Amino acid sequence: MTNPLLVDVELPSFERIQAEHVEPAIDKILADNRTLINELLNQSTRHWDNFIAPYEELNNRLDNAWSPVAHLHGVVNSEALRQAYSSAQSKLSAYHTELGQNEALYQTFKQLSETDALPQERKRYLDNCVRDFHLSGVHLSGEKKQRYADIVQGLSELSTRFGNNVLDATHAWEKLVSDPDQLAGIPDTARAAAKQAAQQKALDGYLFNLEYPSFFPVITYSDNRSLREEMYRAYMTRASELFPAGAQWDNQNLVNELLDLRLELANLLGYENYAHYSLASKMASTPAEVLTFLNELAERSVALAQDEFQYLTEFAREHFQIDELAPWDVAYFSEKLRQQQFDLSQEALRPYFPLNRVLEGLFDIVHRLYGIDVKALDAIETWHPDVQVFGLYDQGQLIAQFYLDLYSRPHKKGGAWMGECRVRRRRSDLSLQLPVAYLVCNFNAPVGDQAALLTHRDVSTLFHEFGHGLHHMLTQVECAGVSGINGVPWDAVELPSQFLENWCWHPETIPLFARHYETGASLPPEMLEKLLAAKNFQSGMQMVRQLEFALFDFELHSAWGQSGVTVQKVLDEVRSRVSVIPVADFNRFQCSFSHIFSGGYAAGYYSYKWAEVLSADAFSRFEEEGIFNRQTGLDFRTHILEQGGSQSPQVLFEAFRGRAPEVTALLRHSGLLSNDESKAG
Ligand code: ZN
Repeated sequence: MTNPLLVDVELPSFERIQAEHVEPAIDKILADNRTLINELLNQSTRHWDNFIAPYEELNNRLDNAWSPVAHLHGVVNSEALRQAYSSAQSKLSAYHTELGQNEALYQTFKQLSETDALPQERKRYLDNCVRDFHLSGVHLSGEKKQRYADIVQGLSELSTRFGNNVLDATHAWEKLVSDPDQLAGIPDTARAAAKQAAQQKALDGYLFNLEYPSFFPVITYSDNRSLREEMYRAYMTRASELFPAGAQWDNQNLVNELLDLRLELANLLGYENYAHYSLASKMASTPAEVLTFLNELAERSVALAQDEFQYLTEFAREHFQIDELAPWDVAYFSEKLRQQQFDLSQEALRPYFPLNRVLEGLFDIVHRLYGIDVKALDAIETWHPDVQVFGLYDQGQLIAQFYLDLYSRPHKKGGAWMGECRVRRRRSDLSLQLPVAYLVCNFNAPVGDQAALLTHRDVSTLFHEFGHGLHHMLTQVECAGVSGINGVPWDAVELPSQFLENWCWHPETIPLFARHYETGASLPPEMLEKLLAAKNFQSGMQMVRQLEFALFDFELHSAWGQSGVTVQKVLDEVRSRVSVIPVADFNRFQCSFSHIFSGGYAAGYYSYKWAEVLSADAFSRFEEEGIFNRQTGLDFRTHILEQGGSQSPQVLFEAFRGRAPEVTALLRHSGLLSNDESKAG
């Protein structure tokens, strides 16, 4: 039987791919690539068609084989796959370092990047490559090159181990509650899910775990304070020495090692620290610029956040006789306060957000904005029966596809993300490889035969990921390196995703997807009004929470290596400036902060807020010209979505908005402008 990873097809054969296919396929492709690259370099003259095009082609073959492996590792993890993934990954990391440090390759790219009259996307691609050769240490001496390679290898292993520890700890802890009286306050959907989880393990009662869909309803709704505390303690100590199910997944030493290696890497390449290194490929230019940006947002929001927390404290004291709010009380009383102020609970909205309606509404919105049709596709292999496949059509023609994997389940990584399965590109035979995306969320699976009912927060997560998906799928770029999200600086990548979230917060768009799952009735106007009124509930507290993560990440990567600096100290110091809620002494949030220790957000978590300036400001053009203004939608499609990474985000934004980005819209949307300023803006 042929190895399914070695057959380069439009869509991977997910049903056939096994862990044992991974290493042989990667070995074969890497060996082929090394031979082919040498042949390419041996040509006496090198230009785009005889060099870059075949070079991109061979690396695309590798990407097409690796993408389903990395994806399966995230969504149907197993011991065998984990081992195969990890050994293949270290070979890949070595391969990429080798290419990045290959001087003949570098010289060729550099020379071609200086060619006159290059089309924009090729120019941008080659410039990015030249920059990345520098960031891979192409200019280093032999010994330092080797050290660079070892560091990169070490970083890749450490971040994989960090993620595995979080995943294993998350699944190692469970709480069985046999007495239903202990579950007062917890919504029916969450109870039913917990009951089903118990049944699946042949247990009586209700089984809770630390996956978000199980943790969230307990911490938000359970009247049982000690149950909340117990789950909070377990959740906040995952992968630390204090974790109740064991200390074997403790990430703390690993984090220190990661930070040491990152600093060494930055220094080796001539950067003062990892924050400087991180910005070399971002839209923001200096650490000072990032810190000023974050600190100005903090100045705008800390006082408001303090007031909000003070109000919450008084509310709990007055109505519930709680003298002092513990960390595991904040979400619970916030929800109570929200219900009192707006008479609206997240749960009450669920019946109006059945998954199928929400998808129809989302596709309808995309059609109105960009003229794109989305249709379900049958008979396509996937990795799980819950996964659906869809096609995107422009004037009847298939232009892209995506897999939708929405429900939380064991052995699936938490959170939500968009991944690339295939990247849009022009092949050497001039045919087009169409873009294909993975859209992954972790919603509550439907219980029994009931429809899956989402919260509004779920809806906004779905819109967010779909926004990334559109960036990937609507691109018109033909060079893979700058197609879709490729080549887009990290701090601009969240523009299309956060942008699309606006459409689940607008009175004209909500009726398009909010319909009662049984009656089909639209969301009653008074509920719609309440939903919108509650949008900026505790917006100060939400803002400082994001700023705490962003400042912690950025300051940690700026200060690491200076005497006396520890992870905990940096975190404590940042919290003392911007956090307004109580912090438990057992809090080990950093041990599961996967974004920066096993994702790509190191010295880059600020990107969410940075890009939100862009997304809010882009959306404000729709507020001015009409939420479904066809021309505005078309402009966003052509100036932003279709361009991918082929041009600097600043230039693309200005082409769409007609001016440089301004922070006013973000402040207004977050309720952080006074009335006067709001009128002026
Ligand atoms: Zn995102």
